[in-house]
Amino acid sequence: MERTPHVAIVPSSGMGHLIPLVEFAKRLKNNHNISTTFIIPNDGPLSISQNAFLDSLSNGLNYLLLPPVNSDDLPSEDAHMVTRISLIVTRSLDSLRDALKLLVAEKNMVALFIDLFGTDVFDVAVEYGLSPYVFFPSTAMLLSLFFYLPKLDQMVSCEFKDLTEPVQIPGCIPVRGQDLPAVLVQDRKNDAYKWMLQNAKRYMMAEGIVVNSFKELEGRALKALLENEPGKPRIYPVGPLIQSGSISDVDGSGCLRWLDGQPCGSVLYISFGSGGTLSSNQINELAMGLELSKQRFIWVVRSPNDQPNAAYFNSHDDKDPLEFIPNGFLRRTIGKGLVVSSWAPQAQILSHSSTGGFLTHCGWNSILESVVHGVPAIAWPLYAEQKMNAEYLTEGIKVALRPAVDENGIVGHLEVTRVVKSLLDGEEGKAIRTRIRDLKVAATNVVSKDGCSTKTLEELSSKLINKGN
Ligand code: UDP
Repeated sequence: MERTPHVAIVPSSGMGHLIPLVEFAKRLKNNHNISTTFIIPNDGPLSISQNAFLDSLSNGLNYLLLPPVNSDDLPSEDAHMVTRISLIVTRSLDSLRDALKLLVAEKNMVALFIDLFGTDVFDVAVEYGLSPYVFFPSTAMLLSLFFYLPKLDQMVSCEFKDLTEPVQIPGCIPVRGQDLPAVLVQDRKNDAYKWMLQNAKRYMMAEGIVVNSFKELEGRALKALLENEPGKPRIYPVGPLIQSGSISDVDGSGCLRWLDGQPCGSVLYISFGSGGTLSSNQINELAMGLELSKQRFIWVVRSPNDQPNAAYFNSHDDKDPLEFIPNGFLRRTIGKGLVVSSWAPQAQILSHSSTGGFLTHCGWNSILESVVHGVPAIAWPLYAEQKMNAEYLTEGIKVALRPAVDENGIVGHLEVTRVVKSLLDGEEGKAIRTRIRDLKVAATNVVSKDGCSTKTLEELSSKLINKGN
């Protein structure tokens, strides 16, 4: 049997989970010689980006795909992504057992990690004598909400969105009921809510929870989480772990070459993450607003959809998204802007000196990438916990501007123009830029040789390695 300590990681669907988990696995391997096998539950072929990403794994990082489970019984429009993600994991438990049996026989297995959802996997970990851990790819604030949810569920009898007073999650800024994660705001009788609550309750069973955040970014939430309480798992803040290198090294979209020719700090990068989509009306308003602003931009466009997370399980469109851009927009903005279909090398774009702003859907990886590269943001949340993140960015640490949404849920073109100009060219933008640059320095320090996150990862790794001895 191999002596190198080895962990299994069971990710749930979505690039936003896979990317930080792979970064975590790279650190375990490169800094502590702990290797990893990703065991991937699924209900059909992976997306182009997931395949490209997994195929690029090397140096002690492997993956295996479990046989696809059947999720045809889920109503395609109504099923919440949390339900689908949770069911995929639960229905994969038998094949996961088989995969683990082989790994345990061949490798020096020391732990099993899950991410956000999928705590049912803990039972399988325990059957094989493996310590169950969570890698939490979102905010300390959301993790605090996970711990608080069982109590909140008991205390509140109405729908959370109808609460008249903001929710006070321990260590966090007050959050209006309607800004809680989408899964909590919908109908509490929905299966998705039940899955979320069940996962939250089972977090107490973890031996430890790794969270992709750091003190200077989320000091109060982390402090509350780190307080000792009987039975509470140890929390390991190891962030920011962000995408290193691009998913494909080829700059197929030409973004980076185009950025090379633009003035320093002049370009707004616009992306709604791996799964975000806008309605047709919203695409038109965004296009008009950008054009009016006369600012430079790179816009990653997807085909319109009224569901804001329509691309969550597959970032790439079957249709050509450029067909949905208003007539003449590409011609009129030539030289000023670049429109890219479905996917762009985001980490490299944000690290490019020509990029001066980021219009983001507020996924946590995107926020961390913005912080690490010191790029000020426009917060445009769409789904999941993004409204909570947007509130924290704008009201908590004040590193983003937030456009106003009209009574139909649309950001109108004049509002787009206003925020884009303020961020790239206004006084508000300057103040935000200064604050985010301070955070950039802190983000660099925490992952330096003696930084807090490096030390925390060392502590966790020593614990894992000791298990294997
Ligand atoms: N991403 C990318 N190119 C794109 C869209 C997204 O490289 O065109 C990457 C992005 O850099 C980030 C991740 O995908 O690392 C998205 O994660 P995030 O948490 O921001 O949002 P999610 O996709 O989970 O909503």
